[in-house]
Amino acid sequence: MANRTPFIAGNWKLHKDCADSITFAEELKRAIPQDIDVDVMVAPTFTALHPVCEALKGSPIAVGAQDMFWEAQGAWTGEISADMIRSCGCTHVIIGHSERRQFFGETDETVNAKLKAALAAGLVPIVCIGETDAERKAGKTFDVLGTQVTKGLNGIDPETLAPVILAYEPVWAIGTGNTATPEMVQEVHAFLRKSVADTTHKELANAMRILYGGSVKSGNIAELMGLNDVDGALVGGASLETESFSGIVRYK
Ligand code: PEP
Repeated sequence: MANRTPFIAGNWKLHKDCADSITFAEELKRAIPQDIDVDVMVAPTFTALHPVCEALKGSPIAVGAQDMFWEAQGAWTGEISADMIRSCGCTHVIIGHSERRQFFGETDETVNAKLKAALAAGLVPIVCIGETDAERKAGKTFDVLGTQVTKGLNGIDPETLAPVILAYEPVWAIGTGNTATPEMVQEVHAFLRKSVADTTHKELANAMRILYGGSVKSGNIAELMGLNDVDGALVGGASLETESFSGIVRYK
């Protein structure tokens, strides 16, 4: 089995202004051990990216953006490019979060365009996929996820896909307190690894980190991390406080 370093990411969403983000980043820097053997990342709002990168210099905590645009520059009012994100000091970017899909018109095609641009700019993309409650109840979970993987990775040279991290986030589990059961999570993660293998190749799929997201907290992280195909977590609500996030990061 491939040796995949665990990855825990905190998505701050629309929380914390610049001052609060810096204070929080400094707290996390003190709370998370320098020699932690887990990759840790936080995703503040765009306006706090640069100050948080500065605040976290010298710590093991990486910084990522919550979204990006696929064009490098031009007349695209309100958008942010991958190079701009990098120039703030970021190394990662979240792409295709279900809130972007649900409320801001993100599609598998735009996810694919963003993924290509992120890889070209040297950012580590965290690509989010997940089924809605209605899709799960209709028995469409695996169709939906299979399509999201195939379309998301479409037309990308597998040799360039190594940095990609996949995040399985069932929409019905995000922010609801309803974590998917360990059986559901393992079943989906194994399916996703196979879908990536079928779309690209087996070595890449074995090495790819697949995160779970959806009401992860310090009380359920250890069980989730014990599952064969779970390599980390994308955390929303519980990433907003030092104690809960550092508790998740130090799950071992
Ligand atoms: C998320 O938004 O990616 C998420 C998983 O949120 P929460 O942990 O609050 O469910």
